[in-house]
Amino acid sequence: TSLANQIAAGEVVVRPASCVKELIENSLDAGAKQISVTLREGGIAQIVVQDDGAGMDEADAQMAFRRHATSKLFHERDLVRIHTLGFRGEALASIAAVSRVTLTTREGGSEYGVCVRVEGGEMSPVEHVGATFGTRIEVADLFYNTPARLKYLRTVQTEQAKSVETVQKAALSRPDVAFTCQTEHHVLFQTPGNGDVRAVLAALYGVGEAKQLLAIEEVTPDYRVTGFIGRPTQGRNSRAQAHLFVNGRPVRNVAVHQAVVQGYKNRLMIGKQPVYSIAIAMDPSLVDVNVHPHKAEVRFSEEADVCRCVAGAVAKALDETLL
Ligand code: ADP
Ligand code: MG
Repeated sequence: TSLANQIAAGEVVVRPASCVKELIENSLDAGAKQISVTLREGGIAQIVVQDDGAGMDEADAQMAFRRHATSKLFHERDLVRIHTLGFRGEALASIAAVSRVTLTTREGGSEYGVCVRVEGGEMSPVEHVGATFGTRIEVADLFYNTPARLKYLRTVQTEQAKSVETVQKAALSRPDVAFTCQTEHHVLFQTPGNGDVRAVLAALYGVGEAKQLLAIEEVTPDYRVTGFIGRPTQGRNSRAQAHLFVNGRPVRNVAVHQAVVQGYKNRLMIGKQPVYSIAIAMDPSLVDVNVHPHKAEVRFSEEADVCRCVAGAVAKALDETLL
């Protein structure tokens, strides 16, 4: 029902950035190589995510808005080992319950695209339209029908910053995908999609900054830790950005963050927070990503082990330059 969807929306969609995150994850799941995100008024007025992924046929396009209508979960055991980013099948239904959504999509091999609109949970009849291959989802007037939630949004600048950060994290986690992030006025950043994390960092923070970054690489039987960390000369707190990825997913974990920061401070005796982007690849059954619907917080069954490995990787990267 649409009420159930609105309730679910309260957990999945708390602000424009949560929509941006879900829409990007869907595009990545669809195999997109190019994703563009456009924000109007920080995403409050409108979010458009366009991809060149697999697209949907007419039936899929209608199904997409049904709650728990995921095309991605086939077996119970998939809940333990999650391969795709989306797995709950409620993001689109939840977003559509609290906004005006227009979905335009065209599958490879199809002569035409299909377009459906959903407003406050009510779906319009499907139209056939001209469209490029892939999917375009427009989310307009977020929370227009739930004023209580609208009230909790912050300023346009703050909401935009949170959305942009979400796109940044996605771009860092997938350097092989070309991301464009723009407002209605101008392009904020554009990544080349050539697979090079440093190229993404250059697009986000500037070429000069990216050149200063130290490469991290540590491979043990259980973990593969890769990424970059800011050099000692580059301690500007205003630029401080911490990006952690586990099995390709942007996550937060206080213990690992502290391991990075502590490792950095111990080596350099500098009180400032490092800029870093660190990716951990590991056995998915030792990671709990479903702690929260936003899937940001991550829990490790062997947290101390993970921290030790990350701290070691950071120490190694710094030692090599201090030599
Ligand atoms: P989930 O991602 O958990 O499956 P969603 O509500 O996010 O659930 O999406 C529902 C379904 O809509 C997906 O399973 C997928 O089949 C389809 N879908 C959504 N976005 C896209 C997209 N950008 N490209 C192709 N298919 C999509
Ligand atoms: Mg999804």
